[in-house]
Amino acid sequence: MKLVDGHSHLFHAPASADNLKIGVSEIEGFDAALLVQTLDQAGLSLVQTMPQEMSRIQDRWLGSNPLSADIARCVPDRVVAFAGAEPLDRFDALNRARLKEIERAVRETGLKGLLLTPPYGHYYSNDRRVYPFYELAMELDIPVYFHHSHMFGDPKRCPLKYARIWLLDDLVIDFPELRINVEHMGYPWTEELLAIMSRSPNVYTDIAMFVAPYVGRGRPLLLARNLGMAGEYGVLDRVFYGSDYVGESLREYRDLIQRETGHILNKLSGDMERFGYPPLTPQEQQGLLADNVLRLWKR
Ligand SMILES: [Zn+2]
Repeated sequence: MKLVDGHSHLFHAPASADNLKIGVSEIEGFDAALLVQTLDQAGLSLVQTMPQEMSRIQDRWLGSNPLSADIARCVPDRVVAFAGAEPLDRFDALNRARLKEIERAVRETGLKGLLLTPPYGHYYSNDRRVYPFYELAMELDIPVYFHHSHMFGDPKRCPLKYARIWLLDDLVIDFPELRINVEHMGYPWTEELLAIMSRSPNVYTDIAMFVAPYVGRGRPLLLARNLGMAGEYGVLDRVFYGSDYVGESLREYRDLIQRETGHILNKLSGDMERFGYPPLTPQEQQGLLADNVLRLWKR
């Protein structure tokens, strides 16, 4: 079975905004051949990886955009690298410098998509000041990933009012052609998300952090219920797997992939049947593990 990790932060570690790694030479022990070997061992044909900007409120990033481009440059056939951005600056104005950086990164260094994380940056995704980023994504024909869900930890860091799914309804009305991934099945507003997906064919979602994550708690029964609901809403072919791995350890990464994909292949359908839902067909499994995200990426 073909496997693709559709959501990760592989090699993008947390760092303060004034101390970002900008190339793979700064990653201890980075070895492109070892990365390829690890992907082969895990059975992955492709891994997506992306930085996350959190400089507006928290003064930090996961990785950086130049680092993301350098990772892709080293292993272009196996890595799908995205950019990250906060579209508003510290003074609540459009972050024009980042907008230019994203355009250059996609056109000149081959980054393939954009990550936005409104609850971390304390802004609303339907704020008209943010719209130039969506217009740019449309122009560049790249998908936009959103963290639009709950976040464990200090509530002041990621207030839930910035994560509510219904904010995205304005986006799918104003940008019906924009390709969107709402991470983590929009937890805990999954049904709200599925309702949006049922009428918006360019909205996808991933199941990152639900199975057996390397940090925090897995929620495998919630995943089974959510996938059953996705089937009932007729949108199961837009749900895909992502590891959400953050860090630089290839061994830790490989173990995570094997643990989670093993669960999806061997246990998930049984869990779904316990809720009264039909088990995943082989085609639905293949969609979840690879085909659906490849469609989102137009690959
Ligand atoms: Zn993530």
